[in-house]
Amino acid sequence: MTETMTGGCQCGRIRYTVEIDDFDAYLCHCRMCQRATGNVSIAFKNVEKARLNWSKEPEYYASSPIARRPFCRECGTPLGFDYPDHSKCDLTVGSFDDPSRFVPVAHFAVESLHEAWIDTSALRRDRADEYDKLIQRWQEAGLDVPK
Ligand SMILES: [Zn+2]
Ligand SMILES: [Zn+2]
Repeated sequence: MTETMTGGCQCGRIRYTVEIDDFDAYLCHCRMCQRATGNVSIAFKNVEKARLNWSKEPEYYASSPIARRPFCRECGTPLGFDYPDHSKCDLTVGSFDDPSRFVPVAHFAVESLHEAWIDTSALRRDRADEYDKLIQRWQEAGLDVPK
């Protein structure tokens, strides 16, 4: 199968289109990804650069001497990970317009994996669009809670 997927940053300034052959994705737990995204891990989809089109070239941050990370300078969204000399790169799963289609198939850099965040399936689940204090803030702004 080949699917064309779209995505972009939170403010919409940078958009991309990419062709993929499957929905396999992975979590990277390395300390550089944790710092670069401010998160305990980051979900990535590995794609071929030749099949990736940016609507507008993202900004790049040299996160180490061997790699760089595309992002939007206006909203700060982390968009991926890139070895400049490699034919493939990673896109952040959360930056796709429909992240729900991706499935994690592996963990990487497990030496810095935070075990307590791996199986969260037993935690209480609350909906944002049923959380009164948040609904009230959006209503005061004249809006509904975004989906
Ligand atoms: Zn942006
Ligand atoms: Zn990493």
